[in-house]
Amino acid sequence: MEDMGDAVTFSILGSSSAGNCALLATAGCRVLIDAGLTARRLEEMLNGLGTRLAQIDAIFLTHEHGDHISGLSGLARHPHIKVFANRETARATQGRLRFRPDWQFFETGTTFKFRDLEVTSFSLPHDAADPVGYLFTAGEGTEASPKRRLAWCTDLGHVTELVRERIRGADVLVLESNYDADLLDKAERPFALKQRIRSRHGHLSNAAAHELLRTTEGASWRRVFLAHLSRECNDVALVRATYAGLAAVGRRFCVEVVDPRDGAMAALRLAEV
Ligand SMILES: [Zn+2]
Ligand SMILES: [Zn+2]
Repeated sequence: MEDMGDAVTFSILGSSSAGNCALLATAGCRVLIDAGLTARRLEEMLNGLGTRLAQIDAIFLTHEHGDHISGLSGLARHPHIKVFANRETARATQGRLRFRPDWQFFETGTTFKFRDLEVTSFSLPHDAADPVGYLFTAGEGTEASPKRRLAWCTDLGHVTELVRERIRGADVLVLESNYDADLLDKAERPFALKQRIRSRHGHLSNAAAHELLRTTEGASWRRVFLAHLSRECNDVALVRATYAGLAAVGRRFCVEVVDPRDGAMAALRLAEV
């Protein structure tokens, strides 16, 4: 395993309706974004990246849906891990846990520090208690460790102006591209579920994600990860093909589609993006 030293690194461990989780490591902390993988699976993936659950300092929850919190119940044996969430998300999550994690509450929309990480949360339109996206700022501002911003934005039914403003300044953007409208239409799923996914408080379609990337002016993005793809109502090759034309309209960032069937991606050094 390559030693990442003090470099700020980021890795998506899983991103689909079957489980969402990412690792962000800085010189001063190692944190997870969501915990939608079982503790056992999480430990395996972290081991593959040269770390382990015992070394995780905190988890930042976006909202209480199972694909984002299902791994929490297995973390009772790691009481040192702080769990950051707004009060509504914490309340909704606690109701499904048999132990009480070390909750750290924040107000949606505020910016705060955790060790050497600066964290901003922002509201997302999604059918949960008080769902948020995050903007993380890490790095020391030196040549070896430049300041980098990572925006995490999944589980939203549509793009609000607030969302566009918060993610615009990120160097790395993780954005939901959940479903293809035709594949969702044809899928053998209950009508009510389809309506839920399509609603203004459901999930972001490929077309809506593409529109956001195409039309946002003055964005700092260097790498964009399209994430939380539906396994049944989306297609990795189809999404990839959709983005082939973006360079032609002056969008220079690199777009990567996170395959919902893949395991952890190799750690990305944010200084090098
Ligand atoms: Zn959700
Ligand atoms: Zn989700």
